[in-house]
Amino acid sequence: MQQAEQEAAARTSQLEAVFEAMTDGVIFFDGQGHLLEINAAGLAMIGRDARPDYSLSSAYGRPSRYFVRDEHGQLLSHDQWPISRILNGETLKNERAVDVIIRTRDGEKQLNVSGAPVYGPEGRIVGAVVVMHDVTERRRFEVALREANRRMDEFLGIASHELKTPLTSIKGYIQLMARRLTNSIHQIITAKSLTNTDSDEQTQFLEGLQDLLERTDHQVGRLNRMVNELLDVSRIQANKLDLILEPCDLATIVQEVIQDQRQINLARTILLELPSDRAVQLLADADRIREVISNYLTNALKYSAEDRPVEVSLQTQEQVALVSVSDEGPGLSPTQQEYIWERFYQVEGVELQSSSGTGLGLGLYICRKIIELHQGEVGVQSVPGKGSTFWFTLPMIKE
Ligand code: ADP
Repeated sequence: MQQAEQEAAARTSQLEAVFEAMTDGVIFFDGQGHLLEINAAGLAMIGRDARPDYSLSSAYGRPSRYFVRDEHGQLLSHDQWPISRILNGETLKNERAVDVIIRTRDGEKQLNVSGAPVYGPEGRIVGAVVVMHDVTERRRFEVALREANRRMDEFLGIASHELKTPLTSIKGYIQLMARRLTNSIHQIITAKSLTNTDSDEQTQFLEGLQDLLERTDHQVGRLNRMVNELLDVSRIQANKLDLILEPCDLATIVQEVIQDQRQINLARTILLELPSDRAVQLLADADRIREVISNYLTNALKYSAEDRPVEVSLQTQEQVALVSVSDEGPGLSPTQQEYIWERFYQVEGVELQSSSGTGLGLGLYICRKIIELHQGEVGVQSVPGKGSTFWFTLPMIKE
């Protein structure tokens, strides 16, 4: 008997040691909300250094002291307090755990509170155990991060908008200069044939300028695409990416994009597989869908070797159209497959195989948003080292 008592005492002191050593605050209450037991971490969280007189201390004793609010700062009434909810039979855990803000001697604290009722032999609630986790620092950091992100979005929105205007002018001036240059070359050649004079040097000089201008135009085109991507991202963030939905044929759109890309990438093999029997009617923003296919295709070309083909296919199943673009590039690991749809994500160490230049890591993010706004889905299937197949689906118009 004595040995059993000794064992029980040893066990009790072990549990007490564990209770005191915990970094989470733990409180036991009785069925009326009187505080029975609190560990050291709990005392520190509520800003007290001595245990209160338990027999007198009720959770509701001096409510104004703690000024208990929810995570948005709204003052909570007694029955909204976590302890009241638990004593009313609620179990607060995992996603049901609640954040409360309390005012303590050491300043405001944000606590993530979980807990469960304690049941007596007849199934009545006779108490509650409450576990508090101090999330003050983490929440402060999250708020600061959200604010920094908001400012970054705001900055990107303003910057891309402001960059767009001079860029459009530059593009216009380049076109004007190109036209004037072509005319000048044409005039010199005509004059030469009329007067029989030698103007080769002058023509060569102007043709050199024409070449430089073409390169400038190409780079301005890249800059323009990046600014457009930034603009699209800020529209997406502000829920302002508006679609112009019209009936259109997806087979035609796919063919047009492929034709454009074949012209730009003369050395590449771009294969196309279309459904033989019918047009694929959609209600969609054709320009935006063109943009998505174009993005998948330029990525496939950009990341796979020049001598490897890229294959585009359009299929239909019931009322859903499926477009996929397959390449024999480096492929992506399962984790990369998940992250590539995020803003600014670029896989480290992936080499560009063609000269179209890196982007900002925004293309796939925008593609996903565009397709989701059309009630479709995006995805990728890939085996590292073996290539990737990027796909999207879109609902078709019911026949
Ligand atoms: P970027 O402008 O960098 O191409 P994207 O959003 O289009 O941005 O793509 C994000 C990243 O996903 C790319 O930087 C690249 O690392 C990876 N990626 C996209 N397409 C492919 C592909 N076909 N094969 C391998 N990696 C790809």
